[in-house]
This record gives sequence, C-alpha cells and structure tokens, in this order.
Amino acid sequence: MLTVDLHAHSTVSDGMLPPREVVARAAARGCTLFALTDHDDVRGLADAADEAKRLGMGFVPGVEISVSWRKHTLHIVGLGVDPQNPVLLAGLQSVRSGRDERAVRISEALAACGITDTLEGARKFADNPEMIGRAHFARHLIERGIAKDMKGVFKKFLARGKLGYVPHEWAQLADAVAWIKAAGGVAVIAHPGRYEFGKQTMGELIEEFKAVGGEGIEVVSGSHNPPDFARFARLAEINGLFASAGSDYHATGEGAREPGILPDMPPGPVPVWSRWLPEPAIEQ
Ligand code: AMP
Ligand code: MN
Ligand code: MN
Ligand code: MN
Repeated sequence: MLTVDLHAHSTVSDGMLPPREVVARAAARGCTLFALTDHDDVRGLADAADEAKRLGMGFVPGVEISVSWRKHTLHIVGLGVDPQNPVLLAGLQSVRSGRDERAVRISEALAACGITDTLEGARKFADNPEMIGRAHFARHLIERGIAKDMKGVFKKFLARGKLGYVPHEWAQLADAVAWIKAAGGVAVIAHPGRYEFGKQTMGELIEEFKAVGGEGIEVVSGSHNPPDFARFARLAEINGLFASAGSDYHATGEGAREPGILPDMPPGPVPVWSRWLPEPAIEQ
C-alpha cells in the first residue's frame, strides 16, 4: 500500500470535513505525505499545512482546477503550489466567479422538472459560498429524499446531459497549467479514467497538456479501478509524465476511498512525490 495521498477535499470546496480534520484523518490512517487539493480555491492550505506539521506528516499544498477542454470538463491538479502567488490567486478567483450564477441556473433547471426551491438548501451545504457546486445540490436532494445516494443523484439529475445539468465555461487548459506553474507547482491531469476518452482523444489531451507545460497524470485514484491503474501507468511512462496517486476523498460514506492510504503504484512511471520525499542519506 502507498502511504502517499495527493488529492483530497475539505469544506473549502465540496468536502465535508474542515481542512484540519481531513489532514488529521489522513495522518491517523498512517499517511506520510498528503496534499489538500480543493476545487478552485487555496484557502484551506494554511490550516492544513499547520495541522500536518503539528502531526508530523509531510504536506504538499495543492489545488484542483476546473477546466473546459473541447466539449468536456476536466480537472487539473496543481501540486506544490505557493498559496499566495498572485497569478494563481487571480486565476482561481476568475474560475470561482461564475459558480453562484451557475447555481441559480442549476436550481432553475431542477425546478423546470418539478424539483423546486433547491438553491437555499444547496447553499446550506456550501461552507464556502464562492464554491457552491453540484455536490452541494446532490447532498440537498438526498436530504430531501429525492435521491438515495451521491451516485444515484448524479446519475439521475446532475451528470452531464441530465435534467439538472447546465453547461458552464471553466478555465482554459493552458491557463490552468500556466497559473499552477507560475505558483511553482506541478500540473497533473486528475482522474483521467473518469473522462471516458478513447485512445485517440486521450492521446490528444496528453499531447496538448504537455505542450502547455503539464507534467503529470493520476494513475492511482479513488476514481480508478485496477485496469485504469495499469492503463495510466503505461501512458505516464511512454509519455514521460510523472505518475500521481490520490484518494479524491470528499466525505466518509460518500465515495469509495478514505484519505491517506492507497493501492500500490504499478512499476514503470516516475512517482511525482519523489520530489517531496526527504533525500536518502548519503553513505559515508
Ligand atoms: P462541480 O465542480 O460543481 O461541477 O462539481 C463537481 C464535483 O461533483 C466533483 O468534484 C465530485 O465531487 C462531484 N461529482 C461529479 N460527478 C459525480 C458522480 N458521478 N458521483 C459522485 N460525485 C460526483
Ligand atoms: Mn468534488
Ligand atoms: Mn475531480
Ligand atoms: Mn477531486
């Protein structure tokens, strides 16, 4: 098992635990190197870093940026970013700025299919009002008994093409990578197995991502199954991308994975975390 987890969420975006509690949960499970990667916001990183230090766990400051690529939404994780970098902060602010208006449109789409008054309920679940998103609507619909669980509510109402889904323009791929690099970070394609791209489209994405400065791809992910681990380990290796691993933890009971420990990385690609592990002692 890996004790590295470089992808997780807190109440700063759509996770259910405050930053300090996510960090403590990972540490309690034996994690040695952890990254908090909230969607489009870095305001949890100071608390998370402080708690990790207190608990003696390695910490990598991160973020997960929402990107529109062709007709798809992608997520790009930035690892090792400076949370105070003005280029990154301005970029993230611009990505967040459309979320409130989008939430209004989601509530209108749901109302049009008979599920009225969801906006206030969804807002109650969004600790960070600038970061209201589909997970908050999902939790509200579950609370109202309209759906049974996260998987069901997305499948029925909130996934692309469903009644409560509204299109939205996120950051450009090149911009997201540029902000991460400006802040000293490494850009990583998050959970590539979720996009359901064929060989051709995945190849084109990787090529474009590398051309704009992207350097890594998630291989082991809470959103991947073992065949995905093998597929993306191979793609990382042949494309010279660093391989990353992350639980994508949001809340206990909601997803498959708890934070902090993950299945092993297949052999082959270079792990992205090699840069943050202590140098091996030189034998005298
Ligand atoms: P948003 O950025 O508002 O579009 O919300 C995206 C978030 O919704 C993801 O980061 C997940 O937390 C959640 N999500 C998306 N699709 C699913 C799904 N099929 N099942 C559970 N959660 C999902
Ligand atoms: Mn999320
Ligand atoms: Mn994601
Ligand atoms: Mn995530």
